[in-house]
Amino acid sequence: MTTVTMIENGILNQHLIDPEICIRCNTCEATCPVDAITHDDTNYVVMADKCQGCMDCISPCPTGAIDNWRKVPAQQAYTLEQQYGWESLPEELPAERLAAAQQEPADLTQAQAVIAAAAMASAASASSAATEPAFRPAAYGSTVPPWSAAHAYTNLYGPKSPVTATVTGNLNCTEAGFDSETHHIVLDFGAMPFPVLEGQSIAVIPPGVDANGRPHVARQYSVASARNGERPGYNNVALTVKRVTQDHEGRPVRGVSSNYLCDTQVGDKVQVIGPFGNSFLMPNHPRSHIVMICTGTGSAPMRAMTEWRRRLRKSGKFDGGKLMLFFGARTPQELPYFGPLQSLPKDFMDNNLAFSRVAGQPRRYVQDAIRERAVDLALLLGDDNTHIYVCGLKSMEEGVLLALRDVAQQSGMDWESLGGTLKREGRLHLETY
Ligand SMILES: Cc1cc2nc3c(=O)[nH]c(=O)nc-3n(C[C@H](O)[C@H](O)[C@H](O)COP(=O)(O)OP(=O)(O)OC[C@H]3O[C@@H](n4cnc5c(N)ncnc54)[C@H](O)[C@@H]3O)c2cc1C
Ligand code: SF4
Ligand code: SF4
Repeated sequence: MTTVTMIENGILNQHLIDPEICIRCNTCEATCPVDAITHDDTNYVVMADKCQGCMDCISPCPTGAIDNWRKVPAQQAYTLEQQYGWESLPEELPAERLAAAQQEPADLTQAQAVIAAAAMASAASASSAATEPAFRPAAYGSTVPPWSAAHAYTNLYGPKSPVTATVTGNLNCTEAGFDSETHHIVLDFGAMPFPVLEGQSIAVIPPGVDANGRPHVARQYSVASARNGERPGYNNVALTVKRVTQDHEGRPVRGVSSNYLCDTQVGDKVQVIGPFGNSFLMPNHPRSHIVMICTGTGSAPMRAMTEWRRRLRKSGKFDGGKLMLFFGARTPQELPYFGPLQSLPKDFMDNNLAFSRVAGQPRRYVQDAIRERAVDLALLLGDDNTHIYVCGLKSMEEGVLLALRDVAQQSGMDWESLGGTLKREGRLHLETY
C-alpha cells in the first residue's frame, strides 16, 4: 500500500481538497477508512488529525481535487473552519517559513497534539479492526474498470471552462406526480467534443449563486445513454434527473440543480463539466455478464449499458452474455422508464422489480429480490465473466452488499475472498449518492 509521510521534523504534509475543481460527489468521504473527510454545504475537507495518508481516496476521486498536499508547520495545520471558507487552495508556504518552523524548539504542543491524535486514530482503527471488523460496503467497490472496458475520457471540461450544451429533450419518465417526478433530459453538445461511455457521469453548473453569494457548485448526473448518443450518431447524452422536493429527512426543499434541469425547455443552454469516472464502466468482451442493481435514478447508468447491448444485438454484433436487473422503487409509478422496460424482449434481460410502497402488498426491496434469485445469482457470482453494478441512494448500499454476501455464502463461496477478487478485477462497482 502506498502511503505518504504525514509529519517530519515538525512539518505536516497536510492533505487538502481543491474546492475549485471538487464536484462534491462524496466519493472520498465514502472511501476513507478512518472517516477523515467531511463536508458542509460548500466544501469537502480533510481532518488533519485523522488523515493517515493511506491514499485510499486518491484514485476513486473523479476530478483529482483530492490529491493536494501542503507542507505547513504542524502547529499551524489548516483548520476545518479555514478549509470550509476556501474558494481556492492556499499557496505553498515559502521555504524559509518552513525552515524557520523546523528550528523553533518552542511550542510543540499543537504539533504533538496532531501527531498524537493521528496515532490514536490509527491505533483505534487497528484495534477495532482486530476485535470487530465493521461491515464497510465501500471497501468492496472497485476503483479499476473491467479489463475489457473501452477507454474513458475524463475531465475534458473543468469548472473554469465548462462546455455549453443545448437541451434537445425534456420529458417526465415516471407516472408519479410532481413530488416524485423524474425527467429524461437530452443535452446536445453540437460541434464540441464530449465523448462518454456508459457508466460515466457529467456535472451541471446551475445558474445563479448560493446563500453565501458564491456561484452554485456543479451537481453530478450519470449518463443514461449509450456511447454513440441518445440518438445514435448524434453528439448528445441523456440524463435521468429526479426533481428533489424533499431532503433526505423528508423536509420540503427545492433542490437547486434538479429543479433547474427539470424545468428547462428545449433550446435552453446548460453549462456542463466532465465527463467523470473511469472505473464504473461496462465490460466489452464476448459473453461478459452484467448484473445491475439499482433504485430510482440509479437506473441511469443501467439504462445506458442496456441500451448499448440492445443496439449491439440489433446490429448483429452482440457476443452473448447475460443481463440481470434488480430495480427498486416505491411504486411502479415512481420507477423511471417503467413502460420502456416492460417492452424489452424477455430473452434480452432478466428483470427483477421490487416495490416497497404498493398498497395492500408487503414491502419488497432490491435485496429481497436478490435473495429470491440466489440460485441464479450464485451461478453468476462464480463466473469470472460477471460484472456487478450498484447505483442509487446511499441507503441501499449496505443491504445490497449483505444480500450478495448471503447469496455467495449460501452456495459455499467465501465472501471475503470473492469480494476481494471482484474488487481487484474491476467486477463490483458501487455508485451511491
Ligand atoms: C456520482 C453521482 C451521480 C449522480 N447521478 C444522479 C442522477 O443520475 N440523477 C439524479 O437525479 N441525481 C444524481 N445525483 C445527485 C445529484 O448530483 C444532485 O445531488 C441532486 O440532483 C440534488 O441536487 P439539487 O441541487 O437539486 O439539490 P440541493 O439543492 O443540492 O439539495 C437540497 C437538499 O436536498 C437534499 N438532497 C439532495 N439530493 C437528494 C435526493 N436525491 N433525495 C433527497 N434529498 C436530496 C440535500 O441534502 C439538501 O438538503 C448523482 C450524484 C452523484 C454524486
Ligand atoms: S489519505 Fe487515507 S486517511 Fe487520508 S483522507 Fe484519504 S483515505 Fe482518508
Ligand atoms: S470530487 Fe474528489 S475531492 Fe471532491 S468530493 Fe468527489 S472524490 Fe471528494
